[in-house]
Amino acid sequence: MDKNVKICIIGGGPAGLSAGMYLEKKGYFNYEILERLDRVGGKCWSPTYNGRRYEMGAIMGVPSYYAVHDVEEFCGITHDGPKLNRNYKNKDGKVIEPFEPKKNILKIPRLLKMKKQVKKLGELLETKYKGYDVNGHRGVSEGRYEGFSQVNAKREPVSGVNPNLKDLCLPFNEFCKLNGVELTQDIWIGPYTSFGYGYFDEIPAAYVLKYLDFQTTMNFVKVNLWTWKNGTQYIWEQLNAHLKNPAVLNSKIEKIERKDGKVFVTVNGAVKEYDKLIVTAPLFIPGTRADGQKGFVEYCDVREDEKELFSKIDYERYDVLAVETKPEDHPEISYYVFDNMAKERLGHLMVYYRRWKDTKDQVITTYALRKHKDTAEVPYEKCRAMVLDDLKTMHNPASNVINEWSVYYFPHVFSKDYTAGWYEKVEAMQDKYNTFYAGEIMSFGDMDETAEYSRELIERFF
Ligand SMILES: Cc1cc2nc3c(=O)[nH]c(=O)nc-3n(C[C@H](O)[C@H](O)[C@H](O)COP(=O)(O)OP(=O)(O)OC[C@H]3O[C@@H](n4cnc5c(N)ncnc54)[C@H](O)[C@@H]3O)c2cc1C
Repeated sequence: MDKNVKICIIGGGPAGLSAGMYLEKKGYFNYEILERLDRVGGKCWSPTYNGRRYEMGAIMGVPSYYAVHDVEEFCGITHDGPKLNRNYKNKDGKVIEPFEPKKNILKIPRLLKMKKQVKKLGELLETKYKGYDVNGHRGVSEGRYEGFSQVNAKREPVSGVNPNLKDLCLPFNEFCKLNGVELTQDIWIGPYTSFGYGYFDEIPAAYVLKYLDFQTTMNFVKVNLWTWKNGTQYIWEQLNAHLKNPAVLNSKIEKIERKDGKVFVTVNGAVKEYDKLIVTAPLFIPGTRADGQKGFVEYCDVREDEKELFSKIDYERYDVLAVETKPEDHPEISYYVFDNMAKERLGHLMVYYRRWKDTKDQVITTYALRKHKDTAEVPYEKCRAMVLDDLKTMHNPASNVINEWSVYYFPHVFSKDYTAGWYEKVEAMQDKYNTFYAGEIMSFGDMDETAEYSRELIERFF
């Protein structure tokens, strides 16, 4: 592509900013990033409290976050945050150690069986499901893999035919059953459901396993994780500061028209002309949102094929509260509440995070899901009240809520549409209307997968 091509990137989160970085690395400098808010980082939002930054969005990474590492290198920063640690409670607030055989004598046979199944799944992923862990979803529903290997930082291009990959279209619980590894869900659920990515009976295995590939899951088990002292938002603030063209904040996009081989974007009342568009903002938002956020289909002249496909997208209602506690009520560590990760306990507190261990003058953040595809959504206020009640049950009552949000999170499609080739169809539309689709929906809802997808997109098309 001509290096002077004028590119508009919508969204100044990890996907949009890293698209800018990878474009620069390939010699494209004629790009502009439009961000609707007055800050960059998107769901990496790290406000300050008593002089320190806490996390309302993304918290951690793993050593295989190669794209995030590219950003760190580009900016000369590193993951220098507090070490993560956690313990477990049941729904009644009692501390438990679910994986410690000595504390669960009656459960020893189940724990041993689970260990065997984890090993088995690891082997199956390497053999039967070879190619499962490339970034993005190209080819999966057709029994192919195509992309860049995530085994090491080199990220070599890989492709091949593997009909078994079609199994990844199944909901994760069915995938586990098919392979006789049901008990592995006890391990995968911690960094999956409590991190707001939905329930195993509704989410296709492809999402679960591309994010929680075997290596990543073992890093979670061993708590071999990265954090950033100034928060995950700092990564993206730094990247923005190092880009030739930092994001244009407070960009209110009113209209996009793609005609005569050009892209016309009406932003803050003025029409701007570009050659290409990269969309990292939400493509479709079912229903209306309290924050007034709109999907791409609402402000762009989308064609029938785009409208048809994007209308299949759903997202998670994942709520975060930042709370103060009295010093004597402060938890000694972060806690996972496995009982509350069952869909029957929708809206309850699944995990709460104590970020700073050396002081009690910092906030605690809480996390809850309030939607399952087959169940009525728990209203926001009800969920908020349930979480605050749960904190009392956990013996860590909040004295005050200082920040909260229910963000547009983890857009995805369900098994029916995944199986019917949703990703193949959308990938085939890349550049059809001078438009490229990137961000969470095209890969997965974490910092690295989205940045990695931007890398791949630039590699493939520019
Ligand atoms: C509570 C929570 C915990 C998380 N924990 C982790 C974690 O531990 N590790 C991890 O890796 N990831 C985590 N994530 C996920 C991670 O933050 C996201 O996957 C990542 O930020 C996605 O990047 P993105 O650029 O695709 O989207 P976003 O971060 O959502 O960025 C999109 C940007 O587009 C902007 N935008 C939207 N609409 C428009 C428009 N019309 N015009 C212009 N701009 C627009 C938004 O304001 C935003 O800045 C977490 C997220 C949340 C909410």
